[in-house]
Amino acid sequence: MSRLRAALVTLVVTLASLVAVTAATTTAAHADECYSWGRNLSSGATGADVSELQVRVAGWAGYGVNMAIDGSYGPQTVNAVKGFQAAYGLGADGVAGPATYAKIYELQDPDCTPIHFSYAEVDGGCGAGGYAGGSVPAATVKENLKRAMWRAEALRQRIGNQPISVSSGFRSQACDRQVGGSGTGQHTYGTAIDLVGVSFCTLAQNARYTGFGGIFGPGYPDHDDHVHVDIRAGRSWSAPSCGVS
Ligand SMILES: [Zn+2]
Repeated sequence: MSRLRAALVTLVVTLASLVAVTAATTTAAHADECYSWGRNLSSGATGADVSELQVRVAGWAGYGVNMAIDGSYGPQTVNAVKGFQAAYGLGADGVAGPATYAKIYELQDPDCTPIHFSYAEVDGGCGAGGYAGGSVPAATVKENLKRAMWRAEALRQRIGNQPISVSSGFRSQACDRQVGGSGTGQHTYGTAIDLVGVSFCTLAQNARYTGFGGIFGPGYPDHDDHVHVDIRAGRSWSAPSCGVS
């Protein structure tokens, strides 16, 4: 081996170990506190770790796609992972590996909510706090809220990382009636959040791309001061003043 070649090999080995150390540090910082993936995932994979991935990338599956969180890595999951990777400057191959996980760990709080949203922002309305009195058990409410927040995180990233706030999240059935709702609407399941912070039409239009089955905004009765988004199955969109229907 020539001296030059030996020097190059040494350099490459040194760089590789530096990269490894950096990756390990990034992973350790957030992963242990919430959830860590133990294997690469790609098309055809199944399992609880696939579901955990789906929750975090569901906002990137494309226009009008409200993907199922079903633990099965199918075409929608491939597209969602590709969309997530592209949005955060990673190589978009549709395979979840160390770089994708490192980015998720970076975006993930210890309680598994995305970095720019929190449970404190979405818990019980009408001053109640908590997750009781809804249409499903509190644990289900919390899981639904987490799923909605990850899609809101995608929405925030999609519009150029502009801050978005939640003006109303979970409501007990009593609270929902108190504010003029039916008492059994999406907010009582924890599947809905009302958003403010940037132009309502910007929110309503972009929400079509980030996994929301329900979108109600400007032009829909009582929705001129916020945009309601929810993760219901199917599609119900109405923001006539923004061309969303
Ligand atoms: Zn709402």
